[in-house]
Amino acid sequence: MSEKILVIGESRDGVLRNVTFEAIAAAKKINADAEVVGVICGSENLNDLAQEMIYYGADRIVTVKNEKLTSYTSEGYGQAVLAVIEDENPYGIIMGHTAVGKDLTPKIASKLEVGLISDAVDIHVDGGQTVFTRPIYSGKAFEKKVITDGLLFATIRPNNIPALDRDESRSGNVEEKSVEISDLRTVIKAVLRKASEGVDLSEAKVVVAGGRGVKSADGFKPLYELAEVLGGAVGASRGACDADYCDYSLQIGQTGKVVTPDLYIAVGISGAIQHLAGMSNSKVIVAINKDPEANIFNVADYGIVGDLFEVVPMLTEEIKKL
Ligand code: FAD
Repeated sequence: MSEKILVIGESRDGVLRNVTFEAIAAAKKINADAEVVGVICGSENLNDLAQEMIYYGADRIVTVKNEKLTSYTSEGYGQAVLAVIEDENPYGIIMGHTAVGKDLTPKIASKLEVGLISDAVDIHVDGGQTVFTRPIYSGKAFEKKVITDGLLFATIRPNNIPALDRDESRSGNVEEKSVEISDLRTVIKAVLRKASEGVDLSEAKVVVAGGRGVKSADGFKPLYELAEVLGGAVGASRGACDADYCDYSLQIGQTGKVVTPDLYIAVGISGAIQHLAGMSNSKVIVAINKDPEANIFNVADYGIVGDLFEVVPMLTEEIKKL
């Protein structure tokens, strides 16, 4: 059996996503002695990204540089990563459970005719077997899964497996692999992004989320102020999105983003089951709601019963004093 675990790196706007570093830590949890080989695809700046992966614990990096890999497509990245897998013959592959990870890994698994464990929140070795823990039933329960035969292939949920400390004294080889990418059936002409500022919601350590109780787009302003003093991001319930108080890109829940920050502050959110599906695994949950019977208090570690328009500015002012 090869002693290599591949970590598929993911970058956005020329910067590696944090979950890439968490995937390196996950690979080390599977086998601290395995060689962790990072894979980075793209068309520029690959050596800088490679170096960063090495600082976070990767032993060696393979880059695949090609103009056709400038933007992510499952077809282009699939060909590139499969070529690296064929060369390296790893016994494990880990990637972040992001939009890209969710798209790319099933394609690779089906090409390789192997299984895939998606959305793991923990990995540990028990009696020589690697056990992956993943949420089921919208986060209401967890299952433990093992792969009894073949490649250990998994995606990991961001913010659950802590990355190793960045260590600039680490070094490792960076090898460029040339891969012939066939003409792509999908070509990305331009990426138009909605203007968004600040911390990425999926990877934020602190999330301040507003619901229908916030009552208007203006009502979100105090939430942005609180998020800013905490260095966090703003999210929302579908109730708030449906009411047009904020953009759907902020929606958290079963049909929105799944977040697991260190601190989740739910403001004017009732705690519908579909909302809990996206945030109930947060490490500490604080709920602010004027209704003491609101379901959100059932999952909250700390609850504040009160009017959010009084409580949120007070909290912001107090935190500013710290
Ligand atoms: P409400 O339920 O209206 O709650 C508002 C809360 O604000 C109340 O608890 C109220 O007491 C409180 N409040 C009001 N004024 C104040 C004040 N001044 N101070 C303090 N508190 C105040 N929902 C999601 O969030 N995410 C999803 O991904 C999602 N997916 C869904 C998928 C399906 C198939 C379906 C059917 C529904 C889905 N929903 C989802 C919708 C979900 O069922 C709820 O309708 C929604 O979460 C309610 O949003 P809310 O808590 O903001 O609003």
